[in-house]
Amino acid sequence: MAIGHLSLVMQIASAEDQRPEDHSEAFVQIVPEPRKMQQIADAARRSGRSVGVVPTMGALHEGHLSLVRRCRAENDVAVMTLFVNPIQFDRKDDLARYPRDLTRDAAMAQAAGVDYLFAPTPDDMYPKGYATCVTVEGLTELWEGTSRPGHFRGVATVCTKLFTVCRPHRAYFGQKDYQQALVIRRLVADLNLGFEIMVCPTVREADGLALSSRNVLLTPEERRQAVVLSRSLFAAQAAVRAGDRDAVKLRAAIEAAIRQMPLAVPDYVAVCDPETLAPLSRIETKAVVLLAVRFGPTRLIDNILLEP
Ligand code: AMP
Repeated sequence: MAIGHLSLVMQIASAEDQRPEDHSEAFVQIVPEPRKMQQIADAARRSGRSVGVVPTMGALHEGHLSLVRRCRAENDVAVMTLFVNPIQFDRKDDLARYPRDLTRDAAMAQAAGVDYLFAPTPDDMYPKGYATCVTVEGLTELWEGTSRPGHFRGVATVCTKLFTVCRPHRAYFGQKDYQQALVIRRLVADLNLGFEIMVCPTVREADGLALSSRNVLLTPEERRQAVVLSRSLFAAQAAVRAGDRDAVKLRAAIEAAIRQMPLAVPDYVAVCDPETLAPLSRIETKAVVLLAVRFGPTRLIDNILLEP
């Protein structure tokens, strides 16, 4: 959607812009150009203000807003990035179906206290002749990386660019995308990017389903059955708390529970080390369960940390 179609009263930001410290009257400024966003971030840093960034692909929900609230509370300047990154989609149909509504997103970002909404176009981010990609090895070769070839290369590349443009002191990610958060931590450490990665808890619907921009793509029956993801994870957590230590049996029990739902097709279910993501046979200390499940063309992921 063109920026000009926005019905809200918003302004395109200028580099000289100084935001008020009182956010009650604040409005979000939409910044489409990377260079302009960089100038704004540089100016904020020069004036001694801290910059927090929340990278998103839009179609905002309470999960995204929980990251914004934390970012708002911990930084002088809150930046949200909104970019449906084509190079992280392994399937064209998934990219085409991805929900988009910039007007709604901008209103939600504004209400949550975002100062700047960096919303570039694909051409702004990947102009003609673009040729550089960032690859994080190891962690990206498992689970989501195996199921979605090229996905993490796209994520690492776009995040590196978003970080370079927004120059954050802190960047906020959700535990909902557990493996992604680990990959970004690795990237920031390996490339000496020198800012903090904050990982925030997964926000869920009342029935336990993790909020996701893709949930709106589920049919009512798929939505009803999708509760099996969180239910099976909570059951695993209860089993471990009750003394179960056999990770192989636990993994099988989760997969069996998912398969009981006729529309659910498990992609992977893994009980693994929370740092390396290597599969475990026994749960001695901490573990994480990662899962991905397809409902027709829609693919959902979720996870839970287990502590005996
Ligand atoms: P996305 O727009 O799906 O790329 O997500 C942007 C950020 O929001 C990522 O760091 C996600 O992990 C985070 N996020 C997505 N869903 C949730 C949720 N239900 N709870 C907390 N964070 C979330």
